[in-house]
Amino acid sequence: MIRANEHYTKLKASYLFSDIARRVAAFSKENPHRDIIRLGIGDVTRALPSVCIDAFHRAVDEMASDTTFRGYGPEQGYDFLRSSIAHVDFQSRGVTIEADEIFISDGAKCDTGNIQELFAGDITIAIPDPVYPVYVDTNVMAGRTGENSEGRYGGLVYLESTAANGFVPALPDKPVDLIYLCFPNNPTGATATREQLKLWVNYAREHKALILFDAAYECFIRDASLPHSIFEIEGANEVAIEFRSLSKSAGFTGTRCAFTVIPKKCRVFDGQGSPVALHPLWLRRQSTKFNGVSYPVQRAAEAVYTPEGQRQCTELVDYYLKNAALILERMTALGFTCAGGRNAPYIWIKSTMDSWALFDLLLAKAGVVCTPGSGFGKCGESYIRISAFNSYENVEKALDRIGTALS
Ligand code: PLP
Repeated sequence: MIRANEHYTKLKASYLFSDIARRVAAFSKENPHRDIIRLGIGDVTRALPSVCIDAFHRAVDEMASDTTFRGYGPEQGYDFLRSSIAHVDFQSRGVTIEADEIFISDGAKCDTGNIQELFAGDITIAIPDPVYPVYVDTNVMAGRTGENSEGRYGGLVYLESTAANGFVPALPDKPVDLIYLCFPNNPTGATATREQLKLWVNYAREHKALILFDAAYECFIRDASLPHSIFEIEGANEVAIEFRSLSKSAGFTGTRCAFTVIPKKCRVFDGQGSPVALHPLWLRRQSTKFNGVSYPVQRAAEAVYTPEGQRQCTELVDYYLKNAALILERMTALGFTCAGGRNAPYIWIKSTMDSWALFDLLLAKAGVVCTPGSGFGKCGESYIRISAFNSYENVEKALDRIGTALS
């Protein structure tokens, strides 16, 4: 008898964004003439930078001739892209990361989900609350948690991110083995200082733990004092891996290209407490289960790392940051206490209402889709997240409508 993975039954009924999509679809069906502005899901709206399009076209043309055609590429990515990333994203900022420590993939979502395959089943996991749901759900699927009770899974150590701690959680009060961190944060938009990251790195070194650092929104950092990478912290290369993505930095959500950095020195431990290098484990995993990102996509990604590519991407991200600043300003003026929105595309807004009630109100009265904070965890209750990913005109229109709806 073929049996299902029963851990799936522990998952909350559906993925947050499917829930939202269902409510919006039902509303649209009942109100077919209402114009809906989507500031909910974190999907970008602007076209790829022209340098990427040009590189993409050239690479597609190469595929049209037997002499330049490419078949399977290296599972961990082409050297041309790995070297460009190592140089521009790390070495030029004084961070020692080599090209062969970078693994190209088709998304930080898959990588953050797949990585936990490398760890034992009975480790203790610390997960921020609120959090990008993928970290929690993939561990539930793997059977590393108990049942869900009142919005929390048994067995997980929740790191509460609240207004009181500036949405940067304190160190856990019991030992943990694996720690998920994400800065700039989805959903709160919070950033972590060098000193705050240092605490985590020191904790991981002391407790033989590993940090999974999700830096998918690193490109939104404009404050020069904030670290872009966990590897800017001394000693992090032994206790952390980092996830990056071109989804938000270069508009690749539909094109798909990301990468994971696993320093050669990064270690986990075997049952006897002896160190085991993580790099060869991930290499083995990827070579077995992944066949690489398509050649044209990697050429388009390489273009991001040219001087002109960097200029175009900065312009792209600046556009969304201008939206974020407007949302922050206008929601604050409406009397809400807001976080994020400065070095991040998300604004985390405190309300006196239940998250889903405010979601429904904004949809019904303003035709604006936000994300209910409770979908990201218990600490997100009575918050909503508004995303800056839309046109400036739509963001302005949405804010005008929210102002009217709430007045
Ligand atoms: N990590 C975080 C924190 C995200 O918010 C997202 C997407 O919204 C991702 C990873 C996924 O990135 P990708 O598009 O590369 O899969």
